[in-house]
Amino acid sequence: MLRAIVGINWGDEGKGRMVDLLSSGCKAVVRYQGGNNAGHTVVNERGRFVLNLLPSGILREGVVNVMGPGMVIDLEHLWGEIIRLREAGVAVTPENLKISDRAVICPPYDRQQDILEEERLGAAAYGSTRRGIAPVYGDKYLKKALRMGELADPDALSRRLQDIVRWKSLTFTGVYGAPPLTPQPVWEWLMHFGQPLLPFVCDTGRYLDELARRGDDILFEAQLGALRDIDYGIYPYTSSSSTLAAYAPIGAGVPGRQLDRVIGVLKAYSTCVGEGPFPVELLGEAGDALRQSGGEYGAATGRPRRVGPFDAVASRYGVRVQGAHELALTKLDVLSDLAEIPVCTAYRIDGRETADFPMGSALDRAEPVYTALPGWNRPIGHCRRLEELPPQAIAYVDFIERLVGCPITYLSVGPEREQYIERGRS
Ligand code: GDP
Repeated sequence: MLRAIVGINWGDEGKGRMVDLLSSGCKAVVRYQGGNNAGHTVVNERGRFVLNLLPSGILREGVVNVMGPGMVIDLEHLWGEIIRLREAGVAVTPENLKISDRAVICPPYDRQQDILEEERLGAAAYGSTRRGIAPVYGDKYLKKALRMGELADPDALSRRLQDIVRWKSLTFTGVYGAPPLTPQPVWEWLMHFGQPLLPFVCDTGRYLDELARRGDDILFEAQLGALRDIDYGIYPYTSSSSTLAAYAPIGAGVPGRQLDRVIGVLKAYSTCVGEGPFPVELLGEAGDALRQSGGEYGAATGRPRRVGPFDAVASRYGVRVQGAHELALTKLDVLSDLAEIPVCTAYRIDGRETADFPMGSALDRAEPVYTALPGWNRPIGHCRRLEELPPQAIAYVDFIERLVGCPITYLSVGPEREQYIERGRS
């Protein structure tokens, strides 16, 4: 069974905890896109872990974790994650971590370029996490990127590095007026952080194909959400990779295989990190209170997230582009204090009401149309069965399910591994 867990919204939906839950019994968990620009937070009996690059299955014994060819990898950052996990007693070995030889290396100069570009943009910045992700994906499509497998042939790598750094330096000096780059520090960085990773590097496609042929369970884990997808998201305020389930087999190394099941993760309210249109944004005290209750601060950057009520227009679009078969609705407990819960059911754009998610400047002009539902005003973190939830909470979930048009099969009511409810199809 090949299953993907993907984000329906702007990211931070709680995918990490769903992967942690559903990876039990899986042979492999695979990251197929992105770099260390976002993070999953997983809380279990061993502690609280923020994973930016490593697949969330790394916390489960017996699960093999794969970093696919669609990823971009900051080697230094990866070592930081490996060392922190090892310090917490979590094994990270070539047996439980496999890195694609085709995955792209994100070198320090791309991180620097990301910062230079955001500074050049000034007030019009895209809200990049400044981890080098856009420049390195740019390099990849310009065919100027270095890949993990190249570390195995230092002579060839050195020759390509000379050429690439000479080219990159033209951008640094000519476009940004920055000092020129030299290959030596990059070379040292590659040798220091890259060479020791070689035992982890392999053809992950062959490995996964073999598992799929044997009928093993493979879980594909997305970073960010549908609205950050480079093609279908709120461009240019998107990530630089495809966050969609349809890309999972390609970015994982098994382009010839199809997913059996797509599980979309959406949050019981809306959050968005960084810039870009966010029609349901709640400002002022109400926004602060929701942010506080939900602990909405970026896992990768610590940035306060923008928050707002559930947005059914954006979510229905997210469900469609992800091709979700079922949904997990997370963080329902965060709404427990509210007397009334607004839900955005449509947008009003230029005086016309629409339930379709628009693109471009129409999205900037979209005003949310709300329906208010009664709150439940009591904690629900202890609930493990649907019947234990207050009727208002059940009604809230039913309402959202109808609006997005896809069965909600899981609810989460707290960050701990066990704080969830399985919900039958209705
Ligand atoms: P991801 O990138 O989609 O995995 O999302 P993040 O890990 O950035 O954000 C999810 C955050 O919400 C983490 O801090 C989780 O521990 C926390 N979380 C997940 N599910 C729940 C829940 O049901 N209730 C509460 N209160 N927190 C949750």
